[in-house]
Amino acid sequence: MTLAEEITFGGADFDRLALLRRDDARITHLLRQPETRVLPIWRNRVPVDGNDRLFMAPADHPVFADAVAPAAFLGLREGRALFARDISAWGGDSAAPVGGGAWDSTAHHHPETPDGCVFVDLRQVMFRLSPLDAELAAMSIGLFAWHRHHRFCANCGAASHITMAGWQRECRDCGRQHFPRTDPVVIVLVTSGNDLLLGRSPGWPEGMYSLLAGFMEPGETVEIAARREVFEETRIKLGPVTYLASQPWPFPSSLMIGCRAEATNRTIEIDSQEIEDARWISREEVMAAWANPGGAIIAPREGAIASFLIRNWLSGRLS
Ligand SMILES: [Zn+2]
Repeated sequence: MTLAEEITFGGADFDRLALLRRDDARITHLLRQPETRVLPIWRNRVPVDGNDRLFMAPADHPVFADAVAPAAFLGLREGRALFARDISAWGGDSAAPVGGGAWDSTAHHHPETPDGCVFVDLRQVMFRLSPLDAELAAMSIGLFAWHRHHRFCANCGAASHITMAGWQRECRDCGRQHFPRTDPVVIVLVTSGNDLLLGRSPGWPEGMYSLLAGFMEPGETVEIAARREVFEETRIKLGPVTYLASQPWPFPSSLMIGCRAEATNRTIEIDSQEIEDARWISREEVMAAWANPGGAIIAPREGAIASFLIRNWLSGRLS
């Protein structure tokens, strides 16, 4: 797909300089440089100013007084080192749970950040951020979520320790190394002539429909997973499956793998354990839903791969 790198969280051409992560002295030196900037992350939320830019500060800024671990090295941009640091121990707004949640629209101001700067769930602002800010935010949210959920060695159960400038954990008891995980998810744009197959899960905003998706299982190719998920949820069978685009989805650790396929049957039988509804919707009905946000069918969230793929399908740019 020629436009695949225009997707949210893709295409910033950011240099992560992963080889530097093992050089503790160099990382420490970079962190102390006055031009270095550090992104604070609070309870899975990112700080965004009134101009839809991430708030970043030097490493000795007071916003980092409540940091719970050393800063993680993100990479280098135009000669400036960029880091992120988890400040979730800040308790100024203790009502806010860790994680926020998919539909969390709350905003939280930290007194050490500028007026107008608030910590919000990344999904609320991702489509308004610059490509670089979106990638930095996705990296940081995903990385710190992994640390929060993997504090103990999966092999022996002992507490593990952060290494490699934030990109690895090691167990000093058994020696096992642990790496940030990514869980692949297939998401499939299924068509039948002029119609698009859309479904909805329980708990989504009323009227919202999106592409069918599901986690890949061990031993599956992307194509097999796409066929299995669509058939399990709707009893629709697919012709050839082709890859379109991917999107990191750090809530907490998914990689969305976008595919398309033409259905070979039309009769939908939903699995009510998996989804609440599924239906064929014509191109004209989808276009109307996009044009009229208050209608009976609500489009998927802007910035998510489903929205990206459907928009490109509508405009005939999926090839
Ligand atoms: Zn261990």
